[in-house]
Amino acid sequence: MTSPEPLLPIVAIVGRPNVGKSALFNRLTRRNNALVEDLPGTTRDRIYGLVEWRGRNLRIVDTGGLGDEATDPFGTLIREGVAHALAESQAVVFVVDGQSGPTGADYEVADMLRKARQPVLLCVNKGDTGAAERNFVEFYALGLGEPMSVSALHGRGAGDLLDAVLELIPEAPEEPPVEPERVRVAIVGRPNVGKSSITNAILGEKRAIVSDVPGTTRDAIDTSFDFGGQPMLLVDTAGIRRAGRIERGVERHSVQRAERAVDRSDVVFVVIDQQELLVAQDTHIAGYAATANKGIVILVNKWDLAEDRAAKPEAAQKVDAKYKFIPWAPVIFTSAVTGEGVQDALELAVHISEVRRRRVQTSELNRVLHRAMAEHGPPTIRHKKLKLYFATQPEVAPPTFVLFVNDPALVHFSYERFLENTLRSNFDFEGTAIRVIFRGRAEGTEEPS
Ligand code: GDP
Repeated sequence: MTSPEPLLPIVAIVGRPNVGKSALFNRLTRRNNALVEDLPGTTRDRIYGLVEWRGRNLRIVDTGGLGDEATDPFGTLIREGVAHALAESQAVVFVVDGQSGPTGADYEVADMLRKARQPVLLCVNKGDTGAAERNFVEFYALGLGEPMSVSALHGRGAGDLLDAVLELIPEAPEEPPVEPERVRVAIVGRPNVGKSSITNAILGEKRAIVSDVPGTTRDAIDTSFDFGGQPMLLVDTAGIRRAGRIERGVERHSVQRAERAVDRSDVVFVVIDQQELLVAQDTHIAGYAATANKGIVILVNKWDLAEDRAAKPEAAQKVDAKYKFIPWAPVIFTSAVTGEGVQDALELAVHISEVRRRRVQTSELNRVLHRAMAEHGPPTIRHKKLKLYFATQPEVAPPTFVLFVNDPALVHFSYERFLENTLRSNFDFEGTAIRVIFRGRAEGTEEPS
Protein backbone atom coordinates (compact mmCIF):
# COMPACT_ATOMS: atom_id res chain seq x y z
CA MET A 1 0.00 0.00 0.00
CA THR A 2 1.41 3.38 -0.86
CA SER A 3 1.92 6.18 1.59
CA PRO A 4 -0.84 8.78 1.66
CA GLU A 5 -0.20 12.50 1.57
CA PRO A 6 1.54 13.86 4.64
CA LEU A 7 -1.09 13.19 7.22
CA LEU A 8 -0.53 16.07 9.59
CA PRO A 9 0.33 19.63 8.68
CA ILE A 10 3.99 20.34 9.25
CA VAL A 11 5.22 23.59 10.72
CA ALA A 12 8.94 24.26 10.33
CA ILE A 13 10.88 26.30 12.85
CA VAL A 14 13.80 28.06 11.19
CA GLY A 15 16.38 30.50 12.45
CA ARG A 16 20.06 31.02 13.18
CA PRO A 17 21.79 28.98 15.88
CA ASN A 18 21.27 30.13 19.44
CA VAL A 19 18.16 32.17 18.82
CA GLY A 20 16.24 29.67 20.95
CA LYS A 21 14.68 27.40 18.33
CA SER A 22 15.15 24.26 20.36
CA ALA A 23 13.84 25.89 23.50
CA LEU A 24 10.79 27.06 21.60
CA PHE A 25 10.35 23.65 20.00
CA ASN A 26 10.42 21.99 23.41
CA ARG A 27 8.04 24.53 24.79
CA LEU A 28 5.54 23.99 21.97
CA THR A 29 5.70 20.22 21.83
CA ARG A 30 5.53 19.62 25.54
CA ARG A 31 3.09 22.21 26.66
CA ASN A 32 -0.24 21.09 27.97
CA ASN A 33 0.11 17.58 26.77
CA ALA A 34 2.00 14.99 28.72
CA LEU A 35 1.49 12.51 25.90
CA VAL A 36 3.61 14.40 23.49
CA GLU A 37 7.24 13.52 23.28
CA ASP A 38 9.71 15.04 20.96
CA LEU A 39 11.71 12.58 18.99
CA PRO A 40 15.26 12.11 20.09
CA GLY A 41 18.00 13.45 17.91
CA THR A 42 20.90 15.79 18.10
CA THR A 43 20.53 19.48 17.42
CA ARG A 44 22.13 18.85 14.03
CA ASP A 45 19.30 16.60 12.97
CA ARG A 46 15.92 17.83 12.17
CA ILE A 47 13.70 16.95 15.07
CA TYR A 48 10.01 16.27 14.80
CA GLY A 49 7.48 16.75 17.54
CA LEU A 50 3.75 16.55 17.77
CA VAL A 51 1.47 19.16 19.13
CA GLU A 52 -2.17 18.89 19.95
CA TRP A 53 -3.65 22.32 20.36
CA ARG A 54 -7.33 23.25 20.52
CA GLY A 55 -8.30 19.82 19.24
CA ARG A 56 -6.02 19.93 16.21
CA ASN A 57 -2.78 18.11 15.56
CA LEU A 58 0.37 19.48 14.05
CA ARG A 59 3.85 18.25 13.49
CA ILE A 60 6.55 20.71 14.30
CA VAL A 61 9.98 20.27 12.84
CA ASP A 62 13.03 21.93 14.31
CA THR A 63 15.31 22.38 11.36
CA GLY A 64 18.36 22.40 13.58
CA GLY A 65 21.37 24.56 12.92
CA LEU A 66 21.12 26.86 9.99
CA GLY A 67 24.62 28.22 9.48
CA ASP A 68 25.53 31.62 10.83
CA GLU A 69 27.83 34.38 9.66
CA ALA A 70 30.88 33.05 11.46
CA THR A 71 30.77 29.50 10.09
CA ASP A 72 28.93 30.10 6.85
CA PRO A 73 30.15 33.31 5.26
CA PHE A 74 28.38 32.68 1.95
CA GLY A 75 25.11 31.69 3.54
CA THR A 76 25.13 28.28 1.85
CA LEU A 77 23.94 26.34 4.86
CA ILE A 78 21.31 28.94 5.56
CA ARG A 79 19.88 28.72 2.08
CA GLU A 80 19.92 24.93 2.11
CA GLY A 81 18.30 24.77 5.51
CA VAL A 82 15.54 27.17 4.58
CA ALA A 83 14.92 25.48 1.25
CA HIS A 84 14.58 22.17 3.01
CA ALA A 85 12.16 23.56 5.55
CA LEU A 86 10.10 25.16 2.80
CA ALA A 87 9.97 21.95 0.82
CA GLU A 88 8.25 19.98 3.51
CA SER A 89 6.19 22.40 5.57
CA GLN A 90 2.81 24.08 5.32
CA ALA A 91 3.86 27.01 7.49
CA VAL A 92 7.08 28.45 8.85
CA VAL A 93 7.91 29.94 12.22
CA PHE A 94 10.96 32.14 11.78
CA VAL A 95 12.68 32.65 15.11
CA VAL A 96 14.95 35.63 15.66
CA ASP A 97 16.87 36.75 18.71
CA GLY A 98 15.32 39.77 20.39
CA GLN A 99 18.38 40.32 22.49
CA SER A 100 20.72 40.79 19.55
CA GLY A 101 18.38 42.51 17.11
CA PRO A 102 18.21 41.50 13.42
CA THR A 103 21.48 40.32 11.86
CA GLY A 104 22.64 39.94 8.28
CA ALA A 105 21.77 36.28 8.33
CA ASP A 106 18.26 37.12 9.50
CA TYR A 107 17.84 39.34 6.45
CA GLU A 108 19.08 36.49 4.21
CA VAL A 109 16.52 34.14 5.63
CA ALA A 110 13.80 36.78 5.48
CA ASP A 111 14.51 37.31 1.79
CA MET A 112 13.96 33.64 1.07
CA LEU A 113 10.87 33.42 3.24
CA ARG A 114 9.21 36.39 1.58
CA LYS A 115 9.31 34.48 -1.71
CA ALA A 116 7.92 31.31 -0.18
CA ARG A 117 4.40 30.17 -0.92
CA GLN A 118 3.65 29.26 2.66
CA PRO A 119 2.75 31.69 5.43
CA VAL A 120 5.51 32.81 7.78
CA LEU A 121 5.28 33.89 11.39
CA LEU A 122 8.06 36.06 12.63
CA CYS A 123 8.78 35.23 16.19
CA VAL A 124 11.01 37.44 18.34
CA ASN A 125 12.40 35.25 21.10
CA LYS A 126 13.90 36.16 24.45
CA GLY A 127 11.03 38.62 24.75
CA ASP A 128 11.43 38.52 28.51
CA THR A 129 14.60 40.60 28.29
CA GLY A 130 14.76 44.37 28.25
CA ALA A 131 16.96 44.31 25.16
CA ALA A 132 14.30 42.42 23.22
CA GLU A 133 11.73 45.03 24.13
CA ARG A 134 14.00 47.79 22.89
CA ASN A 135 14.95 45.94 19.70
CA PHE A 136 11.43 44.77 18.89
CA VAL A 137 10.51 47.46 16.34
CA GLU A 138 13.67 46.78 14.33
CA PHE A 139 12.30 43.41 13.27
CA TYR A 140 9.58 45.04 11.18
CA ALA A 141 12.42 45.82 8.78
CA LEU A 142 12.63 42.13 7.88
CA GLY A 143 9.51 42.70 5.82
CA LEU A 144 7.60 39.73 7.21
CA GLY A 145 4.79 41.64 8.82
CA GLU A 146 4.04 42.01 12.46
CA PRO A 147 6.53 40.22 14.71
CA MET A 148 5.31 38.28 17.73
CA SER A 149 7.17 38.47 20.97
CA VAL A 150 7.71 35.18 22.80
CA SER A 151 9.83 33.83 25.57
CA ALA A 152 10.65 30.19 24.97
CA LEU A 153 12.31 30.12 28.34
CA HIS A 154 9.31 31.27 30.30
CA GLY A 155 6.65 30.07 27.89
CA ARG A 156 5.26 33.52 27.39
CA GLY A 157 3.47 33.93 24.07
CA ALA A 158 3.64 30.22 23.20
CA GLY A 159 -0.15 29.78 23.27
CA ASP A 160 -0.62 32.88 21.12
CA LEU A 161 1.97 31.54 18.74
CA LEU A 162 0.13 28.22 18.40
CA ASP A 163 -3.15 30.06 17.88
CA ALA A 164 -1.53 32.10 15.13
CA VAL A 165 -0.05 28.96 13.54
CA LEU A 166 -3.43 27.24 13.52
CA GLU A 167 -4.97 30.23 11.80
CA LEU A 168 -2.43 29.91 9.02
CA ILE A 169 -3.12 26.26 8.35
CA PRO A 170 -6.38 25.39 6.68
CA GLU A 171 -8.38 22.94 8.69
CA ALA A 172 -8.82 19.51 7.14
CA PRO A 173 -12.30 19.28 5.67
CA GLU A 174 -14.49 17.63 8.26
CA GLU A 175 -16.22 14.44 7.24
CA PRO A 176 -19.72 14.53 8.66
CA PRO A 177 -21.91 16.57 6.31
CA VAL A 178 -25.25 17.99 7.36
CA GLU A 179 -27.43 15.36 5.74
CA PRO A 180 -26.82 11.71 6.53
CA GLU A 181 -24.26 10.14 4.23
CA ARG A 182 -25.56 7.75 1.67
CA VAL A 183 -24.40 4.28 2.61
CA ARG A 184 -23.02 2.64 -0.52
CA VAL A 185 -23.32 -1.12 -0.64
CA ALA A 186 -21.80 -3.43 -3.25
CA ILE A 187 -23.20 -6.94 -3.53
CA VAL A 188 -20.60 -9.37 -4.79
CA GLY A 189 -20.15 -13.12 -5.09
CA ARG A 190 -19.95 -15.95 -7.54
CA PRO A 191 -22.66 -16.52 -10.16
CA ASN A 192 -25.89 -18.00 -8.89
CA VAL A 193 -25.27 -17.41 -5.20
CA GLY A 194 -28.28 -15.10 -5.21
CA LYS A 195 -26.95 -11.59 -5.72
CA SER A 196 -29.79 -10.53 -8.00
CA SER A 197 -32.36 -12.12 -5.75
CA ILE A 198 -31.00 -10.32 -2.70
CA THR A 199 -30.91 -7.07 -4.62
CA ASN A 200 -34.53 -7.52 -5.53
CA ALA A 201 -35.42 -8.52 -1.99
CA ILE A 202 -33.79 -5.34 -0.71
CA LEU A 203 -35.46 -3.11 -3.25
CA GLY A 204 -38.76 -4.85 -2.72
CA GLU A 205 -38.83 -3.75 0.91
CA LYS A 206 -42.05 -1.94 1.58
CA ARG A 207 -40.58 1.41 2.44
CA ALA A 208 -37.85 1.45 -0.13
CA ILE A 209 -38.08 4.36 -2.53
CA VAL A 210 -36.07 3.22 -5.48
CA SER A 211 -34.49 5.20 -8.27
CA ASP A 212 -31.74 4.65 -10.79
CA VAL A 213 -28.59 6.72 -10.55
CA PRO A 214 -25.96 6.67 -13.21
CA GLY A 215 -22.74 5.24 -11.80
CA THR A 216 -19.40 6.76 -12.47
CA THR A 217 -18.38 4.15 -14.98
CA ARG A 218 -19.95 4.08 -18.37
CA ASP A 219 -22.44 1.26 -18.08
CA ALA A 220 -22.80 1.04 -14.32
CA ILE A 221 -26.20 1.80 -12.89
CA ASP A 222 -26.54 2.38 -9.19
CA THR A 223 -29.83 2.18 -7.39
CA SER A 224 -30.61 4.56 -4.60
CA PHE A 225 -33.18 3.75 -2.00
CA ASP A 226 -34.29 4.82 1.39
CA PHE A 227 -33.97 2.43 4.28
CA GLY A 228 -36.04 3.67 7.19
CA GLY A 229 -34.94 7.25 6.58
CA GLN A 230 -31.35 6.31 5.82
CA PRO A 231 -30.37 7.09 2.24
CA MET A 232 -28.60 4.14 0.67
CA LEU A 233 -27.14 3.16 -2.65
CA LEU A 234 -26.67 -0.23 -4.23
CA VAL A 235 -23.61 0.04 -6.40
CA ASP A 236 -23.76 -1.25 -9.97
CA THR A 237 -27.12 -2.90 -10.20
CA ALA A 238 -27.05 -2.84 -14.00
CA GLY A 239 -28.50 -6.10 -15.16
CA ILE A 240 -29.04 -7.34 -11.66
CA ARG A 241 -32.49 -5.96 -11.09
CA ARG A 242 -33.64 -7.31 -14.41
CA ALA A 243 -32.07 -10.66 -13.71
CA GLY A 244 -33.45 -13.32 -15.98
CA ARG A 245 -34.58 -10.86 -18.59
CA ILE A 246 -31.21 -9.91 -19.93
CA GLU A 247 -28.21 -11.97 -20.67
CA ARG A 248 -26.48 -13.39 -17.63
CA GLY A 249 -23.17 -13.05 -19.35
CA VAL A 250 -19.69 -13.34 -18.09
CA GLU A 251 -19.44 -9.56 -18.09
CA ARG A 252 -21.91 -9.11 -15.29
CA HIS A 253 -19.90 -11.29 -12.99
CA SER A 254 -16.51 -10.32 -14.18
CA VAL A 255 -13.92 -9.90 -11.51
CA GLN A 256 -13.03 -6.47 -12.78
CA ARG A 257 -16.56 -5.28 -12.63
CA ALA A 258 -16.97 -6.54 -9.09
CA GLU A 259 -13.76 -4.81 -8.09
CA ARG A 260 -14.95 -1.52 -9.49
CA ALA A 261 -18.16 -1.88 -7.53
CA VAL A 262 -16.16 -2.59 -4.37
CA ASP A 263 -14.04 0.48 -5.00
CA ARG A 264 -17.09 2.70 -5.00
CA SER A 265 -18.70 1.21 -1.90
CA ASP A 266 -18.47 1.68 1.86
CA VAL A 267 -19.70 -1.76 2.74
CA VAL A 268 -19.44 -4.95 0.68
CA PHE A 269 -21.92 -7.81 0.95
CA VAL A 270 -19.97 -10.94 0.10
CA VAL A 271 -22.67 -13.45 -0.81
CA ILE A 272 -22.01 -17.16 -0.57
CA ASP A 273 -24.37 -20.06 -1.12
CA GLN A 274 -24.90 -22.21 1.95
CA GLN A 275 -24.83 -25.30 -0.27
CA GLU A 276 -21.30 -24.46 -1.28
CA LEU A 277 -19.93 -24.01 2.22
CA LEU A 278 -18.10 -27.30 1.96
CA VAL A 279 -16.60 -26.85 -1.45
CA ALA A 280 -13.64 -24.64 -2.20
CA GLN A 281 -14.79 -21.09 -2.60
CA ASP A 282 -13.19 -18.23 -4.33
CA THR A 283 -12.32 -15.66 -1.69
CA HIS A 284 -10.63 -13.30 -4.11
CA ILE A 285 -13.22 -10.56 -4.03
CA ALA A 286 -13.45 -10.59 -0.23
CA GLY A 287 -9.67 -10.27 -0.11
CA TYR A 288 -9.89 -7.40 -2.53
CA ALA A 289 -12.50 -5.65 -0.37
CA ALA A 290 -10.32 -6.13 2.72
CA THR A 291 -7.29 -4.72 0.97
CA ALA A 292 -9.38 -1.78 -0.17
CA ASN A 293 -10.20 -1.20 3.51
CA LYS A 294 -13.95 -1.58 3.11
CA GLY A 295 -16.61 -2.69 5.50
CA ILE A 296 -17.60 -6.31 4.87
CA VAL A 297 -20.60 -8.47 5.74
CA ILE A 298 -20.66 -12.13 4.73
CA LEU A 299 -24.10 -13.27 3.65
CA VAL A 300 -24.68 -17.02 3.76
CA ASN A 301 -27.59 -17.13 1.35
CA LYS A 302 -30.28 -19.69 0.48
CA TRP A 303 -30.48 -20.52 4.16
CA ASP A 304 -34.11 -21.57 3.58
CA LEU A 305 -32.67 -24.59 1.80
CA ALA A 306 -30.31 -25.55 4.63
CA GLU A 307 -30.69 -29.11 5.84
CA ASP A 308 -30.46 -28.03 9.43
CA ARG A 309 -31.56 -24.45 9.78
CA ALA A 310 -30.49 -24.44 13.43
CA ALA A 311 -26.88 -25.25 12.52
CA LYS A 312 -25.85 -21.64 12.20
CA PRO A 313 -22.89 -21.85 14.62
CA GLU A 314 -21.40 -24.77 12.68
CA ALA A 315 -21.89 -22.99 9.39
CA ALA A 316 -20.40 -19.79 10.82
CA GLN A 317 -17.34 -21.77 11.87
CA LYS A 318 -16.86 -23.01 8.33
CA VAL A 319 -17.15 -19.46 7.05
CA ASP A 320 -14.68 -18.20 9.63
CA ALA A 321 -12.16 -20.86 8.65
CA LYS A 322 -12.44 -19.91 5.02
CA TYR A 323 -12.40 -16.16 5.62
CA LYS A 324 -9.90 -16.06 8.43
CA PHE A 325 -8.20 -13.04 6.91
CA ILE A 326 -11.27 -10.98 7.84
CA PRO A 327 -12.16 -12.26 11.33
CA TRP A 328 -13.90 -8.96 12.01
CA ALA A 329 -16.50 -9.40 9.25
CA PRO A 330 -19.92 -10.38 10.62
CA VAL A 331 -21.73 -13.39 9.16
CA ILE A 332 -25.45 -13.19 8.43
CA PHE A 333 -27.76 -15.97 7.27
CA THR A 334 -30.11 -14.86 4.55
CA SER A 335 -32.80 -16.06 2.24
CA ALA A 336 -33.71 -13.96 -0.74
CA VAL A 337 -36.87 -16.08 -1.00
CA THR A 338 -38.27 -15.61 2.50
CA GLY A 339 -36.49 -12.33 3.16
CA GLU A 340 -34.80 -13.74 6.24
CA GLY A 341 -31.71 -11.78 7.27
CA VAL A 342 -32.01 -9.16 4.55
CA GLN A 343 -33.15 -6.48 6.98
CA ASP A 344 -30.37 -7.42 9.40
CA ALA A 345 -27.77 -7.15 6.67
CA LEU A 346 -28.93 -3.65 5.77
CA GLU A 347 -28.95 -2.58 9.41
CA LEU A 348 -25.42 -3.88 9.74
CA ALA A 349 -24.36 -1.95 6.66
CA VAL A 350 -25.69 1.27 8.17
CA HIS A 351 -23.99 0.51 11.48
CA ILE A 352 -20.69 -0.32 9.83
CA SER A 353 -20.73 2.85 7.77
CA GLU A 354 -21.19 4.81 11.02
CA VAL A 355 -18.35 2.92 12.64
CA ARG A 356 -16.15 3.73 9.67
CA ARG A 357 -16.76 7.43 10.14
CA ARG A 358 -15.99 7.38 13.83
CA ARG A 359 -13.13 9.54 15.03
CA VAL A 360 -11.29 8.52 18.16
CA GLN A 361 -10.09 11.33 20.40
CA THR A 362 -6.34 11.67 20.26
CA SER A 363 -5.89 11.66 24.03
CA GLU A 364 -8.08 8.57 24.41
CA LEU A 365 -6.28 6.82 21.57
CA ASN A 366 -2.89 7.44 23.15
CA ARG A 367 -4.07 6.40 26.58
CA VAL A 368 -5.40 3.08 25.29
CA LEU A 369 -2.35 2.27 23.16
CA HIS A 370 0.17 3.18 25.83
CA ARG A 371 -1.69 1.12 28.39
CA ALA A 372 -1.91 -1.88 26.07
CA MET A 373 1.79 -1.65 25.28
CA ALA A 374 2.64 -1.41 28.97
CA GLU A 375 0.63 -4.55 29.69
CA HIS A 376 1.83 -6.47 26.69
CA GLY A 377 5.25 -5.19 25.74
CA PRO A 378 6.62 -5.44 22.21
CA PRO A 379 9.19 -8.12 21.45
CA THR A 380 12.87 -7.23 21.29
CA ILE A 381 14.17 -7.28 17.75
CA ARG A 382 17.92 -7.04 17.23
CA HIS A 383 18.34 -5.72 20.79
CA LYS A 384 15.83 -2.97 20.18
CA LYS A 385 12.26 -2.51 21.26
CA LEU A 386 9.46 -0.71 19.54
CA LYS A 387 8.60 2.55 21.27
CA LEU A 388 5.44 4.50 20.60
CA TYR A 389 5.72 8.26 20.79
CA PHE A 390 2.33 9.37 19.68
CA ALA A 391 -0.72 8.13 17.84
CA THR A 392 -3.38 9.96 15.93
CA GLN A 393 -6.34 9.20 13.71
CA PRO A 394 -6.08 11.60 10.81
CA GLU A 395 -8.72 9.97 8.63
CA VAL A 396 -12.05 8.19 8.74
CA ALA A 397 -13.73 5.84 6.28
CA PRO A 398 -11.57 3.83 6.49
CA PRO A 399 -10.49 4.58 10.02
CA THR A 400 -6.79 5.33 9.67
CA PHE A 401 -4.36 5.44 12.54
CA VAL A 402 -0.84 6.76 12.37
CA LEU A 403 1.56 5.63 15.05
CA PHE A 404 4.77 7.58 15.36
CA VAL A 405 7.39 5.17 16.61
CA ASN A 406 11.14 4.99 17.06
CA ASP A 407 11.55 2.57 14.16
CA PRO A 408 8.83 0.97 12.03
CA ALA A 409 11.16 -1.96 11.31
CA LEU A 410 10.64 -3.02 14.92
CA VAL A 411 6.94 -3.68 14.34
CA HIS A 412 6.63 -7.41 14.27
CA PHE A 413 3.71 -8.75 12.26
CA SER A 414 2.06 -10.34 15.28
CA TYR A 415 2.55 -7.19 17.32
CA GLU A 416 0.94 -5.16 14.59
CA ARG A 417 -1.99 -7.55 14.81
CA PHE A 418 -2.05 -7.05 18.56
CA LEU A 419 -2.16 -3.27 18.23
CA GLU A 420 -4.87 -3.48 15.59
CA ASN A 421 -6.93 -5.74 17.84
CA THR A 422 -6.40 -3.33 20.70
CA LEU A 423 -7.90 -0.57 18.59
CA ARG A 424 -10.76 -2.79 17.48
CA SER A 425 -11.69 -4.03 20.91
CA ASN A 426 -11.40 -0.67 22.65
CA PHE A 427 -13.13 1.42 20.04
CA ASP A 428 -15.51 -1.14 18.62
CA PHE A 429 -14.59 -1.09 14.96
CA GLU A 430 -16.89 -3.93 14.06
CA GLY A 431 -17.24 -4.97 10.47
CA THR A 432 -14.68 -2.74 8.86
CA ALA A 433 -11.06 -2.84 7.86
CA ILE A 434 -8.91 -0.31 9.66
CA ARG A 435 -5.53 0.99 8.61
CA VAL A 436 -2.62 1.22 10.97
CA ILE A 437 0.39 3.07 9.64
CA PHE A 438 3.72 3.22 11.41
CA ARG A 439 5.94 6.22 10.94
CA GLY A 440 9.52 6.58 12.06
CA ARG A 441 11.43 9.70 12.87
CA ALA A 442 13.08 9.88 9.48
CA GLU A 443 9.69 10.87 8.22
CA GLY A 444 8.64 9.92 4.76
CA THR A 445 11.40 7.46 4.07
CA GLU A 446 9.73 4.29 5.30
CA GLU A 447 6.87 2.59 3.70
CA PRO A 448 3.98 2.33 6.11
CA SER A 449 3.46 -1.27 7.01
P1 GDP B 1 -26.74 -14.27 -8.92
O1 GDP B 1 -26.15 -14.87 -10.13
O2 GDP B 1 -25.78 -14.29 -7.79
O3 GDP B 1 -27.34 -12.95 -9.11
O4 GDP B 1 -27.89 -15.28 -8.44
P2 GDP B 1 -29.47 -15.16 -8.66
O5 GDP B 1 -30.02 -14.12 -7.75
O6 GDP B 1 -29.76 -15.05 -10.10
O7 GDP B 1 -29.95 -16.54 -8.07
C1 GDP B 1 -29.55 -17.78 -8.64
C2 GDP B 1 -30.63 -18.80 -8.36
O8 GDP B 1 -30.76 -19.04 -6.96
C3 GDP B 1 -32.01 -18.35 -8.80
O9 GDP B 1 -32.70 -19.47 -9.31
C4 GDP B 1 -32.67 -17.86 -7.53
O10 GDP B 1 -34.08 -17.97 -7.55
C5 GDP B 1 -32.07 -18.77 -6.50
N1 GDP B 1 -31.96 -18.14 -5.17
C6 GDP B 1 -31.33 -16.97 -4.89
N2 GDP B 1 -31.39 -16.73 -3.56
C7 GDP B 1 -32.09 -17.74 -3.00
C8 GDP B 1 -32.48 -18.05 -1.66
O11 GDP B 1 -32.17 -17.34 -0.69
N3 GDP B 1 -33.17 -19.18 -1.45
C9 GDP B 1 -33.52 -20.01 -2.49
N4 GDP B 1 -34.20 -21.07 -2.20
N5 GDP B 1 -33.16 -19.75 -3.74
C10 GDP B 1 -32.45 -18.63 -4.01
